[in-house]
Amino acid sequence: MTGRKISDIGEFRLIEEFKKLVKAGQRTLVGIGDDAAVIENPRGGMLTLFTTDMLVEGTHFELGRATPYQIGWKSLGCSLSDIAAMGGLPSAAVVSIGAPGELEVEFLRELYRGIHELAERFGCGIVGGDTVRSSNGLVISVAVLGEVEKEKLTLRSGARPGDGVWVTGSLGGSIQGKHLSFTPRVAEARFLVENYPVKAMMDLSDGLGSDLFRMAESSNVAFHIEEELLPIDLMAVGEVDRETALTRALYDGEDFELLVVLPPSLREDEVVEKFSSRFNCGLAIIGTVVDRARGISLVRKGVETRIREGGFSHFGPA
Ligand SMILES: [Mg+2]
Repeated sequence: MTGRKISDIGEFRLIEEFKKLVKAGQRTLVGIGDDAAVIENPRGGMLTLFTTDMLVEGTHFELGRATPYQIGWKSLGCSLSDIAAMGGLPSAAVVSIGAPGELEVEFLRELYRGIHELAERFGCGIVGGDTVRSSNGLVISVAVLGEVEKEKLTLRSGARPGDGVWVTGSLGGSIQGKHLSFTPRVAEARFLVENYPVKAMMDLSDGLGSDLFRMAESSNVAFHIEEELLPIDLMAVGEVDRETALTRALYDGEDFELLVVLPPSLREDEVVEKFSSRFNCGLAIIGTVVDRARGISLVRKGVETRIREGGFSHFGPA
């Protein structure tokens, strides 16, 4: 034992440590480190996607501030968002719950109603799970299986200098409510992979100011983001000044929008028009992929400022 605490190293370095301790199976094409694992199917055709998320009372929700329905919705929504990020469709999920003995049955019924209604929307079956007693608050863990055609799989690693960087929807202010009621961008992601040669994709769970760094590492590139192109959510703008709204858009987290990398050859107006005629959600180009050495920057009136790596990180430092 080294004596280091997990709060000293942070979530991302902790994941790096885990990666050294386990091994992905022979049929695993992509293991730890993307939005979902990718497993080859021996009978060919479709690839299997596999992902899980855990929601913990006090970390992801507060009992007084979220309804059980919303907690259920969010617990499945996070994983569906990861399946979407891979370009796939969800097929089945298992739900495991740790609940204090004194929790009312009606609470869990409502929680399951939230899970069920979201699952129905995307044709995802709820096929099992586990329920145990928790001595320290409510914990919900959802694992989702999905599938995607080999040629439509979108990883974090495919971005190349010159490509365009796009996001769906708007960023920031999720804590005002969207984080409990967001619609995972499953349909939007499918539309993108079915119509365009998507180079890389991930979902924005920790905030653009953190997730850009994850994709940059996977693709070995950097990004230049044009500040004035960022679609800042009205909830982040509120009554605050431009700087504060920008900080929220970069670092609030839990946007559950898609960060999408498309080849430079596409016509922006055509893509936007086709997308917005179909969805109740925006799609905007926000910058370009650049060489790794140029760094991850925000460009404001032609002036580059390095983006500080931030956003939500479990256990402290990123
Ligand atoms: Mg993700």
